Amino acid sequence: MAIWNLGSINADMVYAVPHLPGPGETLAATEFSQFLGGKGANMSVAGARAGAHVCHIGAVGTDGRWAVDRLTEYGVDTRQIAEVSAPIGHAIIAVEASGENQILLFAGANHAITRDQLGQALSQAGAGDILVLQNETNAQVEAVKMGRELGLKVCYAAAPFDADAVQAVLPYLDFLILNEVEAAQLQEATGMAPEALPVAQVIVTLGSKGARYFDTNTGERQDFPAFKVKAVDTTGAGDTFTGYVLAGMDRGLPMPQAIGQAMRAAAIMVTRHGTADVIPDLKDVQDAIL
Ligand code: ATP
Repeated sequence: MAIWNLGSINADMVYAVPHLPGPGETLAATEFSQFLGGKGANMSVAGARAGAHVCHIGAVGTDGRWAVDRLTEYGVDTRQIAEVSAPIGHAIIAVEASGENQILLFAGANHAITRDQLGQALSQAGAGDILVLQNETNAQVEAVKMGRELGLKVCYAAAPFDADAVQAVLPYLDFLILNEVEAAQLQEATGMAPEALPVAQVIVTLGSKGARYFDTNTGERQDFPAFKVKAVDTTGAGDTFTGYVLAGMDRGLPMPQAIGQAMRAAAIMVTRHGTADVIPDLKDVQDAIL
């Protein structure tokens, strides 16, 4: 079995600045570092670290070859990542000493995925494989429709949240994952609580409070409290959680077990600074004393 992830790949460029720049200001940054980012890339790395075969479907510019190499190094199957003329998607992040930040996002190559590329990639998927996507690439509706036709388990992580984007894919989904704020926004837009959505399985993550799972067919609802850890950086916790849940589903684990493992992985993640580069592997997750 495999996970096919139509996902973003970003360069996160982080600049340390004495203060956040004002309009018209030219400001010298005092430090610079570049990381692999993007919700898609994070989820692919998390799934691969959890032991799944993850095929990333995405695009980068020639300036993004390092990101593809990094994904390959982390165990992701990168053969379905196209090189296009647009630059790699990127986030320019200015951070002042207090931790306050300012972020400029450019989708770049993440919005240059063609229907042909998607079709070619998914033609290699087998029935029962998982297709996952988030809201950082183009071609989302085409992907969920193809996924349904091919008999894949179609999963959506509704972030960054956009009510129209979720509603466009909703009829084709088997699994939806979103955080508490996103769930409230979706309920406001559709009038439907998570348990009333036309999606068989729904997870609402609740940050340090844990996660809630709804099986909308049986009406079953289960709460999972989070592990108590000292959080230093919650960036990427949600993506790590999702990658691990999908890897568990892909291995055929019952949902509560997949969620249990994902909660352990996400709890470790919040004790670490960084995103894709520091996602724990399955051994770390199983051995951790939480
Ligand atoms: P992100 O910050 O990556 O955007 P998110 O908003 O998508 O995250 P959250 O609900 O904040 O998702 O967190 C996802 C999961 O991570 C939670 O369900 C929980 O298991 C774990 N988690 C998040 N914060 C903490 C914390 N402070 N302590 C322990 N576990 C946490």
